[in-house]
Amino acid sequence: MAHAEESKTGIKGLVFEEPPVFELGSPGRRAYSLPSSTIPEVELQTLLPPEELRDPIDHLPELSELDVVRHYTRLSQWNFSIDSAFYPLGSCTMKYNPKINEDMARLPGFAQNHPYAPEPLSQGSLRLLHELQEFLQEVSGMDAVSLQPAAGAHGEMTGMLTIRAYHQATGKQRSKVLMPDSAHGTNPASCTLCGYDVVHIPSNAEGLIDIDKLRNLMDEDTAAIMLTNPNTLGMFEKDILEITEIVHGKGGLVYCDGANLNALMGVCKIATMGVDVLHFNLHKTFSTPHGGGGPGAGPVGVKKILEPYLPVPRIVNDNGQFSLDYDRPESVGKVRAFYGNFGILLRAYVYIRTLGPDGLRQACESAVLNANYIKARLRDTYFLPYPGPSLHECVFNDKNQLKQNVKTMDIAKALIDKGFHPPTVYFPLIVKGALMVEPTETESKETLDEFIQAMKEIAKQAENDAESFHDAPYLSKVSRPDEARAARHPKLRWKPTS
Ligand SMILES: *Cc1c(COP(=O)(O)O)cnc(C)c1O
Repeated sequence: MAHAEESKTGIKGLVFEEPPVFELGSPGRRAYSLPSSTIPEVELQTLLPPEELRDPIDHLPELSELDVVRHYTRLSQWNFSIDSAFYPLGSCTMKYNPKINEDMARLPGFAQNHPYAPEPLSQGSLRLLHELQEFLQEVSGMDAVSLQPAAGAHGEMTGMLTIRAYHQATGKQRSKVLMPDSAHGTNPASCTLCGYDVVHIPSNAEGLIDIDKLRNLMDEDTAAIMLTNPNTLGMFEKDILEITEIVHGKGGLVYCDGANLNALMGVCKIATMGVDVLHFNLHKTFSTPHGGGGPGAGPVGVKKILEPYLPVPRIVNDNGQFSLDYDRPESVGKVRAFYGNFGILLRAYVYIRTLGPDGLRQACESAVLNANYIKARLRDTYFLPYPGPSLHECVFNDKNQLKQNVKTMDIAKALIDKGFHPPTVYFPLIVKGALMVEPTETESKETLDEFIQAMKEIAKQAENDAESFHDAPYLSKVSRPDEARAARHPKLRWKPTS
């Protein structure tokens, strides 16, 4: 069952209805064709005590191979994907990643190497990890890198644990961490997990850290400042040297959330800004699709003073022989099994090797140029609450459209009917009704122009026919779900109706 759809903008498509797999098939159908087994079946009851046996499962769907192929192919087509259209959500959620990274991650020598394989048999994998650490040191200017953490938030926690260990070892433990009110939600969570109280520094009118407030708040009970540069508004903290000096002046350390490194890589090194700890979101800046919450890799880079506290094992290069060093008494310990998310690390390695230093710089420059192009072309249509210079992303809001009672969520949903994924909405929290656009480095001028055109058409439609927005999108498989109810009362299991 299919129906053709046509929109005003000329988007055409076939949307197939598809019931749950449990409602398909017919008893006795099989999705494989193998000769019958010559090995006699053994009754389970003869092998296991009765209390270990579960009740038989009824009503499993029985489908042919073609039933299965069509079912999953149809479902896959309900998804919006980066391979089919533009995602203004940016590297933070889903940027386009070169397919060669996927290809290399599937090489059997890497994909099938068991993490318990002895070191002499894992030299290639260990060397790759060691070289990746060196690349990340080069990109950031940090002195040492651990690849173990499995996500950005995990890297934050690991980095804060090294700061904690440092204060413990060198003086007295401190109780607080400062962070700007624009921080990503994982930042306060990571500090709290490490036993610190979070003190927010209000942003100034420009959207940057208020230096005077920082000076007043920084004291000798403050372990560190945790900041993001460029911050979550995409703006470079231009007073970063003064900020790090104030914090160091009172014996504190500087943590930088490096999730936004595609705005800096190849152009400047975070270590030179007085940063002591940094995490990288390899699944954002350095490839790997990660929609739906995973998988990720959040390596941490540190200055020399923090190196003794990095997680074990450290990968050691002894004249081209690679080994794992567990003998590090001051280490915060292990934060994850084995060496981290190897497949993600491998993709990042390939990404860096294929681009090279000039390519990384070019990716950064294109990311910044693309965001600024959109910002310049839409600033007369959508309100820019912080109009100062920004790097790889720009944050509008719904202030102009609110006059017609059209809100950020309406604009986001209307974009779906134009064939685009909505941008990040209602983040960062310091912007009311935020619409955060991050086009990334890979998008062409033609794609950006189409997106800009769609955003302008939406603004025009808001002036002429605001009512039409409140049920958008009209052309998607599911129109507008009640998002609060879907989150609070999720129905995750299919139940037979009869
Ligand atoms: C994504 C992001 C994080 C968290 O990274 P995860 O890998 O999702 O845990 C932290 N800070 C910033 C600024 C981010 O964009």
